[in-house]
Amino acid sequence: MKHCIVIGGGIAGLASAAFLTKQKIKVTLLESSPKLGGRAYSFTDKKSNDIVDNGQHILMGCYSDTINFLKLIGADKNFIYQKRLKINFLKPGNELISLESISSLYPFNLLLALLKFNAISRRERLSIIKFILKLPFLSHQKLITKSVRDLLIQSNQSEDTISALWEVITVGALNTNIDKASALMFREILIKIFFNGNFASTIILPKYGLSESYVENAKNFIEANGGHINLSSPVKKLVISDDRLAEVKTTEVSYRNFDYVLSAIPYNTLAAIYPDLFNDEKIEFEYSTILNVHVWLKTNPLKDDFYGLISSPVHWIFNKNNSINLVISDADYLNDKSSEEVYKMCVDELIKYTEIKESDILNYKVLKEKRATFIPSNKIYYSRPSSKTKISNLFLAGDWTDTGLPSTIESAVKSGRIAAELVLVDSQM
Ligand SMILES: Cc1cc2nc3c(=O)[nH]c(=O)nc-3n(C[C@H](O)[C@H](O)[C@H](O)COP(=O)(O)OP(=O)(O)OC[C@H]3O[C@@H](n4cnc5c(N)ncnc54)[C@H](O)[C@@H]3O)c2cc1C
Repeated sequence: MKHCIVIGGGIAGLASAAFLTKQKIKVTLLESSPKLGGRAYSFTDKKSNDIVDNGQHILMGCYSDTINFLKLIGADKNFIYQKRLKINFLKPGNELISLESISSLYPFNLLLALLKFNAISRRERLSIIKFILKLPFLSHQKLITKSVRDLLIQSNQSEDTISALWEVITVGALNTNIDKASALMFREILIKIFFNGNFASTIILPKYGLSESYVENAKNFIEANGGHINLSSPVKKLVISDDRLAEVKTTEVSYRNFDYVLSAIPYNTLAAIYPDLFNDEKIEFEYSTILNVHVWLKTNPLKDDFYGLISSPVHWIFNKNNSINLVISDADYLNDKSSEEVYKMCVDELIKYTEIKESDILNYKVLKEKRATFIPSNKIYYSRPSSKTKISNLFLAGDWTDTGLPSTIESAVKSGRIAAELVLVDSQM
């Protein structure tokens, strides 16, 4: 039986370990921290005793690799699936505007949903539809140097359309603004959402905390299939001998008895423990913050699972019944603000957009994830490393590898699947 060491127990590492153990490859997973899940985990809040996510995670119907992974580990039942796209948007004054499609008549149902989206004028809605229909035919070459704003302006999207729809989609899907995000990446995600069947555009939310929703299933699956998971095992050094990876050293243990290593740790960590891997051509990933503000309420007037906020610094509100979770993406500008200052800003927005009053609030918690996602800029678009490396028994995974997707769960799972397939192909040679 071939043996693969998987380094990193985030989603990419867990996905690759699950795929490999399923194919009868012996896996030892080494994770530096005492918990699995990487950038997507949950914990118990001491004050409320509630399970809280480090950040709300949204999946979409177009996350095909993720859905397959969840099915494989038996975690698909831990998620709530929309039958058709429905997003409720709020404007100031508690004005509710729905973007809602019907279940049949794909793809016209999505176009009809946009036609009825009355946050903007009818003419602007028609210009959105025209833009979406043109997307598959836009020249790749012409978009290489363009930002999302360039693309939108060139495609006659008005300022109102940009702020009511495109900014919300860009910041939600790419965690950056329309000036920094690559037009190519934006086009690719829109094609995935709008041209891949009805289900692709729907939203999928975890029923429980992130750790309960998928980490526990992944751990159980890997162990049931003979894999070993070693927590608190930070890899410090990779030793190469005769162009092969010969030794993996953690602070405590040295591993020599393996056939393959699949690294699923962040780019900067890997570049630090093995600087020669990227031939000194250091890739300058830039990162972007996501802020989550959990607010516990005496009474909660919000009825739906989640809301998008139009023209607000707070992008989404997720409803957890006795609490709500406010999400601020592309939030680097708030990194220096204290929790109190962020909270006050959120309260102002809640008062402006909903019926919630300050006196309804029992407690709050601000969670800042400063390196939540990398920025999918034009510079990064072509420089992401692939899963294959110059070392024949070392493969790479992680949301930052060359999956063609933004920094998401889907990119992490896809990278894990691709790297595991490379190990399998090699093991059968
Ligand atoms: C607040 C927040 C909100 C987000 N929202 C969404 C969303 O709504 N939808 C979506 O799709 N995505 C979202 N994302 C992005 C998503 O969480 C990431 O893309 C995904 O989790 C990345 O997984 P990964 O396995 O590639 O990397 P990571 O999660 O970074 O995993 C890497 C793992 O490697 C471990 N490690 C590091 N160094 C070592 C070492 N030397 N030895 C051993 N182990 C090591 C780390 O501890 C970690 O567990 C969000 C992220 C954040 C932070």
